Amino acid sequence: MAPPSVEELLRARGGDGLRPRFVSKKEREQHKRDAQQAEQSASAALKERIRAERREWERRGVQALQTPRAPDADAAKSETSDASASESASAAAPDAVVAASVRERYLGERKAGPSRKARRGEGNKRFLFEWEDTDDTSVAALGAESVLPCLGGRAGMDGSERQSTTGGRSSVRSTLAEKPWTEKRLDEMKERDWRIFREDYEISVRGRDIAPPLREWRESTIPRAVLDAIAAAGYREPTAIQRQAIPIALQQRDLIGIAETGSGKTASFVVPMLAYVLSLPKLTSETQSYGPYALVLAPTRELAQQIEGEAQRLARRLGLTIVSLVGGRDITEQGYSLRNGAEIVIATPGRLRDIIERHMLVLSQCTYLVLDEADRMVDLGFEDALNYIMDSLPRAGDAGADGAPLPRRMTLLYSATMPPSVESISQRFLHDPAVVQIGTANQAVGTVEQQVEFISSDEQRRTRMLAVLDSGYAAPMIVFVNQKTTADMVGRDLRRAGWHVAVLHSGLTQNQREEAIASVREGENEILCCTDIGARGIDLPNVSLVFNYQFPTNFASYIHRIGRTGRAGRSGNAYTLIDEHDAEHFYELRQELSKSPVSTVPAALAQHPAAQAPTVSSQ
Ligand code: ADP
Ligand code: MG
Repeated sequence: MAPPSVEELLRARGGDGLRPRFVSKKEREQHKRDAQQAEQSASAALKERIRAERREWERRGVQALQTPRAPDADAAKSETSDASASESASAAAPDAVVAASVRERYLGERKAGPSRKARRGEGNKRFLFEWEDTDDTSVAALGAESVLPCLGGRAGMDGSERQSTTGGRSSVRSTLAEKPWTEKRLDEMKERDWRIFREDYEISVRGRDIAPPLREWRESTIPRAVLDAIAAAGYREPTAIQRQAIPIALQQRDLIGIAETGSGKTASFVVPMLAYVLSLPKLTSETQSYGPYALVLAPTRELAQQIEGEAQRLARRLGLTIVSLVGGRDITEQGYSLRNGAEIVIATPGRLRDIIERHMLVLSQCTYLVLDEADRMVDLGFEDALNYIMDSLPRAGDAGADGAPLPRRMTLLYSATMPPSVESISQRFLHDPAVVQIGTANQAVGTVEQQVEFISSDEQRRTRMLAVLDSGYAAPMIVFVNQKTTADMVGRDLRRAGWHVAVLHSGLTQNQREEAIASVREGENEILCCTDIGARGIDLPNVSLVFNYQFPTNFASYIHRIGRTGRAGRSGNAYTLIDEHDAEHFYELRQELSKSPVSTVPAALAQHPAAQAPTVSSQ
């Protein structure tokens, strides 16, 4: 089919070529790349500790590894509908099929050597395409579903870095077949297994030397008594945030935790807090006058009391005193509750400041601090109180009750969003934090740097695309367009510019689609140019850049698309071209960019009238 002319394209988009000009001259050239990729293996000491734990665990004769999360609907669909599943699923029982598919999902490993064709034939997973022809239209159904962790051939990749190639070919290493993490002992887990594990639980991490997540409660150094309390509370498995935040906090590393309400954040800071407090000498009548060892600040009375409840529950029989200090109760009575000292104080900032000002409490040995729901604390105007409390905390090296210098304070900050105010709090009060974010369903991964640029013509669309792709990203990259014909056209443009490109859309046969993805996965092509069909259900590891040639027709697709990069805690980049026709999405887009800790809202978007309030269609 002949490529449509520019005029045709403009007509298709409802434009007349004389659009208002929205010029964003801010073309940010500096692309943060691998430099910040801090996915390094944990320290040798930690590994040794884990090994020792594991030996102990095995000595106790505990065999069963926790069962993996049941494969989600799409995974099951994709796995059972393909040839490889029927191979492995000689057992007809659905459970066996699922089990086989779980295994297959992690075993889709290729051996080095054989030709590309042979490799692909070798039980390598086929790709699931969820739509046939719907990808060219606005797919309402898209919005309702959450992003699924990519299951495709992830296990087939070893995570090795690809060479940056501009116009040349990428080289990809293959690794030998390996067991899936579910079948590995803890000491067999490699960085790659942890990466897959994190993706399975939708855990994103940022920062250097991040401790591996918990596969199950017993694989951690949580004190026995706390583990017993966890069991008594009926918490059979850690939640995602607990899996990743607890090991980090047990290392006494500062932490920023981002996870939705109800995801078990409280225990994720209470458990390491109890472990920490238990490692310190019990308070005596003398040392209690130095104040608590640990402090949790929460924005509201109710929240503080909930946290107290959870802490009491998990601290059963530990012999610790936990006191909450909240407004609305008699302040002298609260002072009285401190008379025998308390290892742990849970407070709202305003009330705590009053209590400190009245000399009813000091914080002279408090070296464990939690700021829960930091964004709400800011919203409720607690920044001043927070600053006051921070000034009351000891500094590293100050003498503690025994005269010895205190360790550096460790600080954990939890927040649903990261507006600049919270960012500033974390910069002032946290030291080299690990960032843990859970879930990708409704918001972009925190590790994706999103850039947005207004363009004023489709010719500019093309030139901007070529310029951005040329600015030094490593293969593979994905270019998203909205229509099949556009995919073909852009694919041709890219090839003309010297790129190795695979095009993917619903107009191709299943084999052609698989071929297209495999060619990019295996480094034969550097760019996948696709419609929204490529936004979900496929896996390309280490995508460095998602380029949105056009803004998708619904906002959820935008999130799905940019979720193709920045996976497994790596940094990723998304570059999106927008124009007036996308105005209905500007509000959400602006919100999304301001939520992202690594993105900034361009002025042209921030000031755009359509970005000021939600539109009916974006609701
Ligand atoms: P968040 O602070 O993220 O909103 P909470 O810490 O209040 O969430 O936990 C929500 C609920 O989940 C609480 O009722 C808590 O007791 C429960 N919960 C926490 N961790 C687990 C777990 N590992 N297993 C089962 N339930 C849990
Ligand atoms: Mg909470």
